[in-house]
Amino acid sequence: MNDDYVAPENKIKARPEKDLQMPVKYLKGVGEVRSRWMANLGIVSVWDLMRFFPCQYIRRDVNPAIYELEPGMKVALAVMISWIDIRLTSRNQKQLNLGVSDGKSCITCTWFNYPLIYEKSFHQGMTVWINGTVSEYNGQLQIVHPEIEIISDTQMEDDFWKTRPVLPVYHLSGNLTQSFFRHLIHQVFEQYAGLIVESIPPFLSAKYRFPEMHKALQMMHFTSHPEQVEQVRMRFVYEEFLFLQLLWARHKHFHLSESLGIAMINKRELTRKLYEQLPFTLTAAQKRVLREIFDDMTTPVQMSRLLQGDVGSGKTVVTLIAMLLAVENGYQAALMTPTEILAEQHHRNITALLQNLPVTVCLLKGGSYKGKSQTISMINSGEAQVIIGTHALIQDDVNYNDLGFVAVDEQHRFGVEQRALLSRKGKHPDLLYLSATPIPRSLSMTVYGDLEVSTIDELPPNRKPVNTFIRSSAKIDLVYAQVRKELAAGRQVYIVCPLIEESEKVDLIDAQRLFEHVSGKVFPEYRTALLHGRMKNRDKDAIMQDFKENRINILVSTTVIEVGVDVPNATVMIVEHAERFGLAQLHQLRGRVGRGAAQSWCYLIEHYPISAIGRERLTTISGTNDGFAIAEKDLELRGPGEYFGTDQSGLPRFRFANLARDSEILKYARIDAFEIIRHDPDLGDEKHALLRSAFVRQFAQKEELIRY
Ligand code: ADP
Ligand code: MG
Repeated sequence: MNDDYVAPENKIKARPEKDLQMPVKYLKGVGEVRSRWMANLGIVSVWDLMRFFPCQYIRRDVNPAIYELEPGMKVALAVMISWIDIRLTSRNQKQLNLGVSDGKSCITCTWFNYPLIYEKSFHQGMTVWINGTVSEYNGQLQIVHPEIEIISDTQMEDDFWKTRPVLPVYHLSGNLTQSFFRHLIHQVFEQYAGLIVESIPPFLSAKYRFPEMHKALQMMHFTSHPEQVEQVRMRFVYEEFLFLQLLWARHKHFHLSESLGIAMINKRELTRKLYEQLPFTLTAAQKRVLREIFDDMTTPVQMSRLLQGDVGSGKTVVTLIAMLLAVENGYQAALMTPTEILAEQHHRNITALLQNLPVTVCLLKGGSYKGKSQTISMINSGEAQVIIGTHALIQDDVNYNDLGFVAVDEQHRFGVEQRALLSRKGKHPDLLYLSATPIPRSLSMTVYGDLEVSTIDELPPNRKPVNTFIRSSAKIDLVYAQVRKELAAGRQVYIVCPLIEESEKVDLIDAQRLFEHVSGKVFPEYRTALLHGRMKNRDKDAIMQDFKENRINILVSTTVIEVGVDVPNATVMIVEHAERFGLAQLHQLRGRVGRGAAQSWCYLIEHYPISAIGRERLTTISGTNDGFAIAEKDLELRGPGEYFGTDQSGLPRFRFANLARDSEILKYARIDAFEIIRHDPDLGDEKHALLRSAFVRQFAQKEELIRY
């Protein structure tokens, strides 16, 4: 009686023209207008509709009794309306009260400023479903602004849903209604369920006790046991992960089996000389990742490794040592950065670290400038051994004599297809991707599923964690008073704000006005400069250089200083409108200070109003300096899409999976996928036939693009 509903197979006659890819527009009762609303929900085809899962379920069968309710409880109840009352509040707001009863006791539901239609929709005696949080007012229990749905609708007379113990609730758009969706979905499964194709082979379904595809889909919509739905949802999450991991597994398999890379020999010539003259000893974490990198570089397989470590963890010196291994083997080594400021900084630091070593270092930038053609010919002849530069490094007119190693700094700015492009350059050079944005494991397995990962999880000794404070914009003078002390001690200060010019929103502080205020009124006795993205590169670099050499005390800037800039004497970071920045960005900005031996400070200035998420970001960042903890939180708050900017990762968006929540399933899917590909890389085995056809449907094109 209470059983889950499954459309009977024998009723289903698959007609070839009735493909699951058919647009929903042509379904009975949909049409042009409704199909547009449905498209807003991501539903275009019948297949999309089948996979448009309810966001909630209404249980008609079990209800907590009203007399059992207590303030704070979240409840969903099927109840009857016993009275209706509309009145004006003392503030002249309209207020709607519905007394609802479960037959024994009564509770009041209250709305302020409700849709007018509510006044006409509800009648005494009607059965409704309500969903909300119980609260107390003047000693009475009430539910304020519950979701409400009429379930004794006349439309429901003699229809399929009338007898169902559980009703699905869908996200809506436009004028679409719950009953529209319920009817349409029921109709679609009646007609098309027979066309649903399985994609997970029985040996895997059995392992996890997943229901078959067509049953699983129907359970999501027609379940009588909403508490079991989570288990069914897992099937779809697993499936989504599995196919992506099959892609990575194949990618890696073919890559490794081709052995096109270079096998370097650890000669300990240049690398040892560098060790001897380093002003510090490497941390244990730096040594460990170097071993991992050397192991890769000394095998004939092309290295593809992600080196992640928090800001200041010392990735540059690790990279440099790897570059020297390539150089002592007679190859050229390149380091590519996203900005010129970073390229120049690396160039300066690396040149300094390599003094007295017989290595030729050069810098290549974009655009045309004096000496560029000479640099290019040095690269071409092989005279240049360590080459640092921007994207200019992979332009067509730059030909290497013998490129054996490429490191990419701040690699999250490059998508998977660019990675493929890079690795096809030269003789399959060993590739090292650097990231100062710690990435949660679940995300790196998804976006960089083909890369090995090395993590520097330890900062060099004697670093003092940055003290972080949230301050209201009204108290900025107190912050400036603190800053004055640091300036008096000879320290330098960053002030960052989100915009360059005065925007339509007058209340936002822009960099130009802030600069005028700070340099003219607050700290006229100190040298202040303005840095923003619309300046010419040359001017930007000149200012950065002046700041580094302490000719400028205060740098007012937009986020252009975000990545990688290293000025150990700067001890204060003030972020204006901190509530507008993402967590990863705030962490990066804070990482600009605390790079020397002195105590550093970060002031996050908040301007009201602040969204709940904005508030949570600020609390998170002020609560920890741990980049990985921040990254996990970031993933939870934003989702992976925004993490990398729009579709930069080039990966499909997940329909069912949530990386923050489902990382456990991801692990299983990854293990399964790699195991399957290890035995059967082409998925040619009979028992993998379902996987193969589903994989080809989803990824055939994609796989071509990322191949290297
Ligand atoms: P990031 O990982 O952010 O690129 P850097 O490579 O710029 O970090 O290193 C930050 C600073 O720490 C540099 O000034 C570098 O010289 C210094 N450093 C790197 N490794 C060590 C170490 N083992 N001990 C002390 N200082 C180190
Ligand atoms: Mg760096």
